[in-house]
Amino acid sequence: MIARLVAALLALALALTGPAFAQESEPPVTILISIDGMRPDYLDRGLTPNLAEFRQRGVAAAMRPSFPSKTFPNHYTIVTGKRPDRNGIVGNLMIDPVRPDQKFSMGDARQALDPFWWQEAEPIWITAEKVGIRAATMFWPGSEVAHEGRRPSDWLRFDQNIGNAQRVNTVLDWMRRPAAIRPRLVTMYFDTVDTAGHRFGPGRSPELDAAIAEVDARIGEVVRGVEAMGVRANFVITADHGMAETDESRVIQLDDLIDRASYVAVEAGPYAAIEPAAGTDNRVYDALLKPPAHMACHRKEQLPAHLHYGKNPRVAAIICIADNGWTILSGPPPYPVKGGAHGYDPNNSDMHALFMAFGPSIRPTEKLPLFDNVHVYPLLAALTGFEPLPSDGEAATLAPLLGR
Ligand code: AMP
Ligand code: ZN
Ligand code: ZN
Repeated sequence: MIARLVAALLALALALTGPAFAQESEPPVTILISIDGMRPDYLDRGLTPNLAEFRQRGVAAAMRPSFPSKTFPNHYTIVTGKRPDRNGIVGNLMIDPVRPDQKFSMGDARQALDPFWWQEAEPIWITAEKVGIRAATMFWPGSEVAHEGRRPSDWLRFDQNIGNAQRVNTVLDWMRRPAAIRPRLVTMYFDTVDTAGHRFGPGRSPELDAAIAEVDARIGEVVRGVEAMGVRANFVITADHGMAETDESRVIQLDDLIDRASYVAVEAGPYAAIEPAAGTDNRVYDALLKPPAHMACHRKEQLPAHLHYGKNPRVAAIICIADNGWTILSGPPPYPVKGGAHGYDPNNSDMHALFMAFGPSIRPTEKLPLFDNVHVYPLLAALTGFEPLPSDGEAATLAPLLGR
């Protein structure tokens, strides 16, 4: 009787856990999670018990984004190791001289899903698939686009209405699969902390605090869910940039400096990308390169070296960068200025992004000095087990995290 009960319980346990426990010998899965707009100091608010525990198991640090400190350029940098100037995604908004009549905008699917814009660098999920490592993307900028006809084995069209809980369940469902069809490289993306940071600013507010706490809880569910299945996984958590407090009282109005017909502002806000209209070049250069208060403007050829920006033909002729917390406008604001924004110089500590790593291949590390986000890519390649493509990242920077 007891023997039969034990056998039944064993069978039940096996049925519940599936084949996962059989694979101690398989290489661990890499799960790359982006918390859009998550500043490292948000961890100090006492709202993130899961992340606090996971940092003890591995590492948490501040990471310097690439210029411009915007969502699309930096997400593509993290998965290619190339700075925006070299990965081709030089802004959330951009114009290519090859297609002067079209503007890339992340909200315009016709442009954002066109491989034309993404061809200058190969993202990690494509390289993985090429060497036989199954990849799956639960959202990531660029993940919906085919490269030379290839895509991740599992991918989804971005939809903000797919809530964080559903994103977690999707990844857990992937991990529950038999090993042969289980992804070994997974990306995940959460946008709610960035959204609250824009609306309420990076200071304390019930809304931003709630967003931070919720994402912490969701990441706790993913990590514990994967662990409960017995699937070994290394987690790398990154943010794309930080967030600075903005206000209507800190606005630079381009209308006060130059006549609007004389230029096109491809982008405005914490930084502005300005293309002088034909025949007005000198007027625009004279007005902007003076320099006006609370921002610094540069010809693309003369940008400060630490920005690593300006060689790509998609970069506009003049790049103006506002002082921290200031907003450059061209006419009326397209969105409320009061709240939070990003796009400033990556050396500005408000723009710094959270980086975390933990898992069976990660050595617990108490302190990691500030580093550039290009170095995450070689770490991801090492964790996942393939040769990284040439990039701006150096494997040596994060190599001390590897190995127990
Ligand atoms: P930003 O304007 O730089 O703050 O960008 C953040 C926004 O990017 C988020 O609120 C998302 O709605 C949007 N976003 C993130 N990933 C994607 C994607 N794959 N496709 C389109 N929009 C996205
Ligand atoms: Zn972002
Ligand atoms: Zn944002």
